[in-house]
Amino acid sequence: MKILLIRPRPHKETIGLQHVMVCEPLELEYIAGNIDCSDVEVEIIDMILEKKTLEDFILKYQPDLVGMSGYITHVNVIKEYASKIKRVKDDCKIAVGGVHAEVMPQDFVDQNIDYIIEANGIKTFNRIIEALKGSFSPSDPMELEGTYRRGKKSLKENSFSYKIPDRSKVARYRDRYYYMFHNPCALIKTSFGCPYSCSFCFCKEITDGKYYTRSIDSVIEELRGIPEEEIYIVDDDFLFNRDRILEFCQKLKENDLKKKFLVYGRADFICKNEDIIKSFRDHGLRSVIVGLESYKEENLNKYNKKTSILENEQAIKILQKYGIEPYATLILDMDFSVADFKNLYTWLKNLDLTFVNLQPLTPLDGTEIYDAYKKDFIISKDEYEKWDLAHLVLQPQKMTIRRYYFEMIKLYYKITMRPKNVVKLIRKYGLREVLKLSVGSSRVTQQYFIKMIRGE
Ligand code: SF4
Repeated sequence: MKILLIRPRPHKETIGLQHVMVCEPLELEYIAGNIDCSDVEVEIIDMILEKKTLEDFILKYQPDLVGMSGYITHVNVIKEYASKIKRVKDDCKIAVGGVHAEVMPQDFVDQNIDYIIEANGIKTFNRIIEALKGSFSPSDPMELEGTYRRGKKSLKENSFSYKIPDRSKVARYRDRYYYMFHNPCALIKTSFGCPYSCSFCFCKEITDGKYYTRSIDSVIEELRGIPEEEIYIVDDDFLFNRDRILEFCQKLKENDLKKKFLVYGRADFICKNEDIIKSFRDHGLRSVIVGLESYKEENLNKYNKKTSILENEQAIKILQKYGIEPYATLILDMDFSVADFKNLYTWLKNLDLTFVNLQPLTPLDGTEIYDAYKKDFIISKDEYEKWDLAHLVLQPQKMTIRRYYFEMIKLYYKITMRPKNVVKLIRKYGLREVLKLSVGSSRVTQQYFIKMIRGE
């Protein structure tokens, strides 16, 4: 059996972080590394990096089964891919998975998609292979555990005991995977879900609110096989358990693993565990993505973030004290006035931040705030490519859409392009890397300018 695993290219409407980062398709590498049958050939195709068309690959590989994964922004892209694949090879079966399929599987219902994987991706993909080989019955997707079956819900696992991802399947792409200045950069996942419950968050829905971890020994074993020095730990919250981080640092040392880590972490943990932050810095922690979310206490409460403005400020200071770069993410509420944008700028400037990610409040389908905002959407649910956490999906209350986009771009450039920040970046990463990233972010800006001009 021939299997093609395809990572789709984003839709041209999607305002894309793909201009400043392209990371490896870890979920497809996991599938490739965990296929139980021996008489199966597997290839991974990354359409973000490929120049040839999808049809070229289908003609070349003649797959029996295609697996695709993506986010909400890929729903229409994946349906279009499925249609193209069937036109070239109508007996090819198509399975779709990924984080959006795990929470909103019904969005992928389409005449050209045979299996929608809503739970336990690796196990379910193997079940699909067995069903197609006829060694497992029933082969009707409506009856296959782990796939989307109307009226039935699959139980999600709460442990992870699979083999490590097969990174050799993307060997030809590896030197082009990067995350901003982390270049080249490898991904690793050590835990699943998040123990917190921020109201806007989609991540916690993927595991049905459960949180579970891999053993540190298995993480170290995987790290030993990764040649890249830059490692992006894609856990929703890596900075959670003191003892686990200490064990991680200890084992990095024992194994003489010298890596540079980028992780997600919460402000409250950083404030309460300065000693851990220092120790982890000594073992390679270089950058932390912190969801500051707001400069207003009332919004933090509204989002059920369970952090405070004071903790946000202290966390940034602690990271800076140890030379760790904070990447701050912020939610821009729809009641923002021009004064709010100014106040946020002053707050971010006083924190001396270089990297900020500004996201207009986006109630994604599947999150607990979705229903409350449903009546206020200014784009339709099935324009999936626009649900990218960058488009406005709600009407701003105190200004026009045009003005709101303008204030967003202005704030972004006022923070990131402060002369002090530019000089710092050139010193740290070199002119070439800074120029390369500037070209990427100017593409994002161009997309925003088009939105501004169209006022949509
Ligand atoms: S926003 Fe972060 S901390 Fe909050 S639930 Fe989501 S992953 Fe957890």
